[in-house]
Amino acid sequence: MLVLESKLVGHPTQFALIDQAIRAFQFVRNKALRYWIDTKGATKYDLNKQCALLAAEFAWAKKLNSMARQSAAERAWMAISRFFDNCKKAASGKKGYPRFQKDNRSVEYKTTGWKLSDDRKHLSLRDGFGIGSLKLLGSRNLNFYHLKQIKRVRLVRRADGYYAQFCIDIDRTEDLAPTGRTIGLDMGLESFYTDSNGEKVENPRYLRKSDVALRRAQRRMSRKKKGGANRAKARKVLARKHLKVSRQRKDFAIKTARALVWSNDLIALEDLKVRNMLRTHHLAKSISDASWSMFRGWVEYFGKVFGRVVIAVSPQYTSQACSVCHAMVKKSLSTRTHTCQCGCVLDRDHNAALNILAKALKTTGGHPESNAWGEWTATAMEQSSAASSFAEPRIPCLLRTLRYRQVECQRIKNSWVPEIDAQHAHAN
Ligand SMILES: [Zn+2]
Repeated sequence: MLVLESKLVGHPTQFALIDQAIRAFQFVRNKALRYWIDTKGATKYDLNKQCALLAAEFAWAKKLNSMARQSAAERAWMAISRFFDNCKKAASGKKGYPRFQKDNRSVEYKTTGWKLSDDRKHLSLRDGFGIGSLKLLGSRNLNFYHLKQIKRVRLVRRADGYYAQFCIDIDRTEDLAPTGRTIGLDMGLESFYTDSNGEKVENPRYLRKSDVALRRAQRRMSRKKKGGANRAKARKVLARKHLKVSRQRKDFAIKTARALVWSNDLIALEDLKVRNMLRTHHLAKSISDASWSMFRGWVEYFGKVFGRVVIAVSPQYTSQACSVCHAMVKKSLSTRTHTCQCGCVLDRDHNAALNILAKALKTTGGHPESNAWGEWTATAMEQSSAASSFAEPRIPCLLRTLRYRQVECQRIKNSWVPEIDAQHAHAN
């Protein structure tokens, strides 16, 4: 799936109608969830049937295109099935019981309810809300794709206007010549990452730079009277500043990830639990600023597009073990240099990156038959035992075969995911 986005140009009354559609979409989603909570054993199919009943009962729900209503019910089902999955995994912590949505910002159409003009520069919405025709702004050309490839169209409200996203059913793959290089990454705070060649990519720290401006805007807003018009204005200013930061982050993540995947056959990184790390409060700001998880999402995505191998290994002992002799060298967070008895003196992060690469190569070497990305991750995580699990960094000739295999990646199957993350991160 490929998502193309264009900004919408229209009359304010049209945008007010889009708001109504978004509200109706949220209403249907929440009603479907209510039905699931009240009805024991309700299935996805029951939820879909519920949509027609809602339309008969509520006039504004009827205004919404019937397939859009269906996708609202599907969204409710997504939340429910995620909850079920978490329960099945039996992991500790919260399971994410589905909640009613209050701040929905988008409405999703499938294959009906909308039409593109012949030159594909205008989008008209044809359901009961009467939104009409809107101009599409943006550099992405929809003429390259067949209309039948457009599976979904969603309208999204952001701090700086309204956007249309076209979800195009296309498997984006590009053939690249093998480079013969492998790389391990250690994600850090001092620098964005350090690779196994000892190179460092600096952390952009956009948020820190915009911090003063953000704080000022935040302060201005909180001084205004609650519920007043001035507060609403100040809130808009703040939302735009947040939107800018989230766009800068996304841009940095995409460019860095692309360059990295382009120039390496195998990329090994740590399977970090960012959520756990955010609990370490004094580090929280830098960690979320660095936005590692988004970066990892894009590395995996480009890995799939360019047919490269991306492996996430358990982060245990990667910074403590020596990359040469595998002895454990205890060090605190503030110790920046790795000094081992064997005579190895390396930058702390460089040493960790070498360990991460070694771990990843070991998993591919040990399991030549696994061809799914998910399996590799699983095996890499199982091998969380201490330094004994480190093998000599060898580059198996396997890699040549691996390169041509279709790399399955659960998270990227539906490539909306990074888009949604970015959009929900700080859009308001
Ligand atoms: Zn050593």
